[in-house]
Amino acid sequence: MDITMPNFNVLWLQSGGCGGCSMSLLCADTADFHGQLRDAGINLLWHPSLSLESGSELIDLLERAADGRLRVDALCIEGSLLRGPNNTGRFHVLAGTGIPMIDWVRRLAATARQVVAIGSCAAWGGITAGGSNPTDACGLQYDDDRPGGLLGASFRSGSGLPVINVAGCPTHPGWVIDSLMALAAGQFSAADLDPLNRPRFYADQLVHHGCTRNEYYEFKASAEKPSDLGCMMEHMGCKGTQVHADCNTRLWNGEGSCTRGGYACIACTEPGFQEPGHPFHETPKIAGIPIGLPTDMPKAWFVALASLSKSATPKRVKANATADHLQVAPAVRKTRLR
Ligand code: SF4
Ligand code: SF4
Repeated sequence: MDITMPNFNVLWLQSGGCGGCSMSLLCADTADFHGQLRDAGINLLWHPSLSLESGSELIDLLERAADGRLRVDALCIEGSLLRGPNNTGRFHVLAGTGIPMIDWVRRLAATARQVVAIGSCAAWGGITAGGSNPTDACGLQYDDDRPGGLLGASFRSGSGLPVINVAGCPTHPGWVIDSLMALAAGQFSAADLDPLNRPRFYADQLVHHGCTRNEYYEFKASAEKPSDLGCMMEHMGCKGTQVHADCNTRLWNGEGSCTRGGYACIACTEPGFQEPGHPFHETPKIAGIPIGLPTDMPKAWFVALASLSKSATPKRVKANATADHLQVAPAVRKTRLR
């Protein structure tokens, strides 16, 4: 590939979302965002916040893309698709065209080589589809965890792949950039997608991996209020042991994550996270046992392990778990460790 001539054309449109995924993208870990894309051979045809074209220039670009005169290698859609009222899509008409956004997306998806859902709104419906969902919002190829969405379960883009769900609310800039770079390099196939069509490079991880509270989790030494250092699974609603994402090994802005900021993982990469059926920061329990047990762990094991761990919790871990800063430092008992 001639890297001086970016030729992987990316078109980014915003639909029914908050724009937070674009805000997140702008925090990509690079001093030269456009340079990074250019070096990967990516040509950003248009993005609502990063491009100068507007009005008739944009409409002309979209027309050329929709009828195949302008090649679109990756159509990135941010935000959910608003089908209301009554499946007309007229709650969201693309300004200056008189045409509902969902019709633009259908036309463009039919010619694009790849279709990429940017964020959980575009993947599953997300926050916009919450509550009574008055706009009849959905994802590109899912309604929460039900295949379908705007394009239908059988949709395949020009490459033969389904919609690539770069889910997250917002999605991590690294997930977007790495996905686009792999696509541009021709190194992304169906085998790189998990069962919900998320890129495996981040979805084969759990938020729990690399969490700084792992020692508290091991001993079931739990936080009781937001500022506490302990594990947030037992009382504070943390779902990190079940949630697919690498937030604690690929940090945000180079240093943070929800759990590092004292905020429970609310499962924002998972379908239906917006309707957990309980307050986000409370752990639902039956007979004192959290309902959402760790992935891959039978309930009986968890209960046995939890009671054993609790009975063996070191004083240091127990004291620190319910404090907002270290109360007891690790003891220094041995030197010349072997
Ligand atoms: S996924 Fe979240 S951050 Fe992204 S557009 Fe939707 S609501 Fe905003
Ligand atoms: S706070 Fe959440 S992610 Fe961190 S150790 Fe506890 S359960 Fe795991």
